[in-house]
Amino acid sequence: SDHALSYPASPAHMDWSVHYPAFVASTAEEADGGAEEKDGRKESEAAEQEREQEQEKEQEQDGDTAVAPVPRMKKQVEIADIGCGFGGLLFALAPKMPDTLILGMEIRTSVTQFVVDKAHALRAQHPSQYQNVSCMRTNSMKFLPNFFARAQLSKIFLCFPDPHFKARKHKARIVSATLNSEYAFVLRPGGIVYTITDVEDLHLWMVGHFEAHAAFERVGDEEVEADECVAVMRSETEEGKKVERNKGKKFVALFRRLPDPAWP
Ligand code: SAM
Repeated sequence: SDHALSYPASPAHMDWSVHYPAFVASTAEEADGGAEEKDGRKESEAAEQEREQEQEKEQEQDGDTAVAPVPRMKKQVEIADIGCGFGGLLFALAPKMPDTLILGMEIRTSVTQFVVDKAHALRAQHPSQYQNVSCMRTNSMKFLPNFFARAQLSKIFLCFPDPHFKARKHKARIVSATLNSEYAFVLRPGGIVYTITDVEDLHLWMVGHFEAHAAFERVGDEEVEADECVAVMRSETEEGKKVERNKGKKFVALFRRLPDPAWP
């Protein structure tokens, strides 16, 4: 059950070094360099400040029992594949964007272990590749904001999510008004949520919920077709391959995170 899942108290407490050892910063200057391109105040600065404040607060509260600081990273995770299954999308994307940290989130223990083992095997075979891909076991419906700071992510993938057909099971779907607000929180403005499913009813549900959410707009067809991640999502996910074999339909929809409106 979820009681057995471990998760950090906040993103500032998350130790990513076990997932991406090649991206541990060896000097303070190297830390969090990946967020440089962003306009305005760097999100990395915000995350760092939050980390420092949290650690100071804990030190005050706990006296000598303060938690050990986590290693600083050169990059932050930027892409999350929610319900990644056996990781087909992760391993196809990783070599295409070697400087971007990609994380699969999966609730099944054995499936998570399979993905972690595969990442290690691929790193051993191709030492300069696959350092940027990892997987963790978690319930993404519950703990997303524990792992990612506001506006940390540039892409979220929801590939062939479990359809939960019956109306009384719809609350288990990974798209809902509440969860979309969490995706909006962890996505940066301009960031994209990618969805694909072979279940038309679920597709319409996802489109309806994202279009109804003020933080998102649907991405137009031309841009969808030009996005190389869409081709990967269609052809490299395990479910995408299964649907292909069965000559089924695949429904794709992308949603862009809009900037927050300015305060009056
Ligand atoms: N995305 C993969 C693909 O396209 O091949 C796998 C799709 S599979 C139908 C859905 C996956 O989501 C399963 O591996 C399931 O264990 C996982 N899952 C379901 N609920 C989840 C949750 N709350 N948190 C994380 N993973 C979840």
